[in-house]
Amino acid sequence: MKFNEQRVVVTGGGRGIGAAVAGMLAAEGASVVVAARSTDQIEAVASELRAAGHRAVGMACDVTDPASVEALRARATEELGGVDVLVNNAGIASSAPLRAITLEDWNRIFAVNVTGVFLCTQAFLPAMVKQGWGRVVNVASVVGKIGAPYIAAYAASKHAVVGFTRSVAAEVAAQGVTVNAVCPGYVETEMTVDTVERIVRKTGLSAEQARANLESNSPQRRVFEADEVAYQVLSLCDRRARGVNGQALVLDGGAVQS
Ligand code: NDP
Repeated sequence: MKFNEQRVVVTGGGRGIGAAVAGMLAAEGASVVVAARSTDQIEAVASELRAAGHRAVGMACDVTDPASVEALRARATEELGGVDVLVNNAGIASSAPLRAITLEDWNRIFAVNVTGVFLCTQAFLPAMVKQGWGRVVNVASVVGKIGAPYIAAYAASKHAVVGFTRSVAAEVAAQGVTVNAVCPGYVETEMTVDTVERIVRKTGLSAEQARANLESNSPQRRVFEADEVAYQVLSLCDRRARGVNGQALVLDGGAVQS
């Protein structure tokens, strides 16, 4: 097994992309900590993985809270005997025209999408550097590379994740650790269900039209599966991917080629 014995923490692992990442890495033999705020969701994911014969444990964590992140680091390190891979996946989305974005919305998005990535990376990276091996994968977005109407706050937060990824990757490049980002287009998760509902509410389009609009962002005319993102994360964690560092890899069927 490529992944055997890797010890992994996935933030936002209770559903959607994070749950798919936890499942795929566990199926490859990793021991996985599934972290998020909703304890029912992380317990459900972890117990399903255990029932399938994998090693997984749920741990409550709010990535915006330094004390909560430090508690996650301490518990995960003790439970797994160390942490080799951190997947910074926890995130929230919103959309509004610039004039309607409140400072509160802006700060809430940055707290989870940017400060959360910063706090978790700062917590887990030193032990990876010390052991001379580690992987950090940040789940950014294709709008970490391009802008689009009505998502100034979300896109700015994901651009920040890409800049953070590139800088930290440069900092640890000679120390056996890689830091990369994945940049998906729309993915079939609750976040996208919410996006469709928001478009319907604000524009009066039908749900089918709203969904077709999202699909038309990709030349493949589709919304992507969480497993496709999980596979991208898995490949970055493979030992043979050690030369890939500081990259922000787009998964959108070819709309954004960078
Ligand atoms: P979901 O809303 O389905 O899941 C988000 C996860 O993040 C949940 O487990 C949620 O759990 C967790 N989370 C949110 N806030 C916090 C917090 N403060 N502390 C800890 N965990 C938190 O979203 P997706 O699976 O769709 O998204 C996952 C990531 O992928 C996000 O970073 C998102 O921006 C990114 N992405 C998503 C795309 C999409 O189309 N769906 C496209 C491109 C990128 P809880 O609320 O219980 O804490």
